Amino acid sequence: MGIFDIFRKKKEETGFSYACAKCGVRWDPGKMEMLYGGFGMVSGMVKPGSSSYAGRCPTCGKLYCARCASFSGVTFQCPKCNSTLKAALHG
Ligand SMILES: [Zn+2]
Ligand SMILES: [Zn+2]
Repeated sequence: MGIFDIFRKKKEETGFSYACAKCGVRWDPGKMEMLYGGFGMVSGMVKPGSSSYAGRCPTCGKLYCARCASFSGVTFQCPKCNSTLKAALHG
């Protein structure tokens, strides 16, 4: 028990965190909501091979970074379902 335990617990309670389903890299929830919380966002500025958020799989609902998602040359795909990843976090 210590100050860090309290801090960690609070962080877990505060919110849903966004992380890559494969490598576990985390993205800032506030920034994620701001950029991808709406709909109609297209992932086009993500560099393949980076640990930036690539998209959410519409089939399994998992999030992947650009390094873990499959890249077809145009779009990112879920490495499991082969569905094209969507940038929007909801819906
Ligand atoms: Zn990853
Ligand atoms: Zn999937």
